[in-house]
Amino acid sequence: MSLLQVRNLEAFYGASQALFGVDLEIAEGELVALMGRNGMGKTTTVRAITRMLRTSRGEIRFDGHDLSVLPSFRAARLGIGLAPEGRRCFAGLTVHENLMASARPGEWTIAAVTGLFPRLGERMEQTAATLSGGEQQMLAIARALMTNPRLLILDEATEGLAPVVRQEIWAAIARLKQGGQSILVIDKAFSELRAMADRCVILTRGRTVWTGAPGQLTSETETRLLGV
Ligand code: ATP
Repeated sequence: MSLLQVRNLEAFYGASQALFGVDLEIAEGELVALMGRNGMGKTTTVRAITRMLRTSRGEIRFDGHDLSVLPSFRAARLGIGLAPEGRRCFAGLTVHENLMASARPGEWTIAAVTGLFPRLGERMEQTAATLSGGEQQMLAIARALMTNPRLLILDEATEGLAPVVRQEIWAAIARLKQGGQSILVIDKAFSELRAMADRCVILTRGRTVWTGAPGQLTSETETRLLGV
């Protein structure tokens, strides 16, 4: 059974419709890449799944629960951990305080997340505002992990980061996948996504237009749907 099942999802910003029919499934332990050009609805899909955007229609089922009727804190408690676009760490809080603010019982503890990102361990007492962009992204992922999520969502996992830091983040994501973590990831680094994803879902103008294994993605499809 799917951990997450999204069917015919529509979503609205006020009177403006942004999603017109998104279909997306994630099985336990799967890494799914949500792809598409700028403005095609990837972040809006994440907002609807996490219930930060509640004006939606269609089916969102997570672990058997109907998320479409729940507020975002309930979605988080059911086990969806989000590292959002723009990171959104608490700038005035230390790394340790940021991590503890989201902590829930489970295998992901301070020791475990600093094992994954040793640099965070060296910066525990620094405020998030003083971290580099890469360290802030590590903190955003670590903070989502501290909720001990069944599903981890990474929106723009490596956006705007230096190549060497990107590689660190991709290596961490690979380790999470090896550990059986279910992951939905959005990023513009298509080659990394293709190498790591079990499945790709491509959106065009708020609709799912292609789903398949990365190996089935032809260069013609990539050019047409992703502009690669
Ligand atoms: P990007 O790769 O640029 O982040 P995206 O695929 O994540 O793009 P979304 O940010 O989900 O795309 O945007 C989908 C559509 O919804 C776009 O037409 C966008 O202009 C619109 N949109 C996004 N956020 C808002 C908002 N807060 N209010 C109104 N419209 C919005």
